[in-house]
Amino acid sequence: MPAPKPISKEMCLAAMDKTKSTKAAARYLGCSYQHLRKYMAMYKDEKTGKTLLELQNNQAGKGIPKHLSGKSKIFKMEDLLNGTLDPSSFSQEKIKYKLISEGYIEEECCSCGFNERRVVDYKVPLILHFKDKNKKNYQLDNILLYCYNCYFLYVGEVFSKKELKHIEDHTILTETTPSKSEMELDPYHLKRLKELGLDDNIKDDNDPYTLVSYK
Ligand SMILES: [Zn+2]
Repeated sequence: MPAPKPISKEMCLAAMDKTKSTKAAARYLGCSYQHLRKYMAMYKDEKTGKTLLELQNNQAGKGIPKHLSGKSKIFKMEDLLNGTLDPSSFSQEKIKYKLISEGYIEEECCSCGFNERRVVDYKVPLILHFKDKNKKNYQLDNILLYCYNCYFLYVGEVFSKKELKHIEDHTILTETTPSKSEMELDPYHLKRLKELGLDDNIKDDNDPYTLVSYK
């Protein structure tokens, strides 16, 4: 039997972030509970000095707010879904993340089922689409997640002409990997990593899952 794959700290955090228990996190990563537990006991949260396993157990046991939520504004998803809360004061990235992590929508393309994760930061390329074109209407029958391809086919342009021109221009790139700007985390993801003191870790060359150079 092949040895199980090592789990990076980022992968642990991503899985913890999306699930409510270590067991669910293991399912999420497609590894065994024991295997994940070992790594979660090994990695420490810089801010509190506790291991990720201790943090997870605290969350599960006492129902205290998730350590990743930090000082950011708290809102109830139900208020947003039934239209009693104006979404304008929250980042759409955070709302999308909450919709997925709290199980309101599946993290996959509603049309083709695409749900592949980018290895470098574990993100799935999905775009939230509002059927009635009102981007404040988060009622569940109004929102859909599309992959980039299906969004292009059924909804509209994914990139503006300017962005596409920039991607396809005649510049000769010296690196074979995507440019730093293409791999940069969005402000919301970056903020969450910073809260945990992990913003340097995402550039860790020792991480076997960091296949992309950040130089
Ligand atoms: Zn699709």
